[in-house]
Amino acid sequence: MLEHVADLFFPEKLNCLGCDAEYDPQMTESFFCNACLEQLKIDTTRCQKCDRPVEIIYDQLDIYQYKCKTCQEQFHYYTRHISCAHYDTLAKKMILGLKYKGKTEYCKGIAELMIKRLIEEHILDKIEVVVPTPIHWTRKWARGFNQSELIAKMIKTMLERDIQMVQLKRHKRTKKLKQLDKEARKLMLKDAIIIKQEERHKIENKVVLVIDDIYTTGTTVNTCSKVLYEAGAEAIYCITFAMGQ
Ligand SMILES: [Zn+2]
Ligand SMILES: [Zn+2]
Repeated sequence: MLEHVADLFFPEKLNCLGCDAEYDPQMTESFFCNACLEQLKIDTTRCQKCDRPVEIIYDQLDIYQYKCKTCQEQFHYYTRHISCAHYDTLAKKMILGLKYKGKTEYCKGIAELMIKRLIEEHILDKIEVVVPTPIHWTRKWARGFNQSELIAKMIKTMLERDIQMVQLKRHKRTKKLKQLDKEARKLMLKDAIIIKQEERHKIENKVVLVIDDIYTTGTTVNTCSKVLYEAGAEAIYCITFAMGQ
């Protein structure tokens, strides 16, 4: 599948989406040069629920069952969340560039890394529906696009198989979440995200993938997951490009 994508999208020479240096894409079969791919990789053991890096004490824990402290204490509506990169220099530059400078070309690189992660975790083949996290229409109008929706569309294009996209609705304009702590975020998002009655049947008994650009406290993807869970989704996977603190 990925060779196919490479044929479709890659010319002979490409400028890396991360550092803009010219490189041979056939060497990495990626929109990124090797150095940038290396920078974007999360190379640690992760929580099997939320994907946060965890310290494993080998003699006490079964690594495959391991959940981080937060996941042991809190309930998540999603089956599993995975992320592609730490929210540091390069990933941060890409997310800020996408959101605030309209660098929508980053979406193809982000979609590519997400597909690779989904293959790695044996999730990709199960997905039947993609659901981008919604932003309020006034914000979409001001920005011109919803970045999660662009990434979801790019994933659909790259996969070339019949996957539905279902849009949730954000019907309350909320404050920028990054200024709030976890409890305040939860309260702020309560009832702010809904699924239209006529869209529910598209979710029922389906394996769903929620797509967002960044995971910080997980409140946004968890709120979307709750809506999808209540609409009868069989399993809910979430993927984000980067994970921050
Ligand atoms: Zn590069
Ligand atoms: Zn966790």
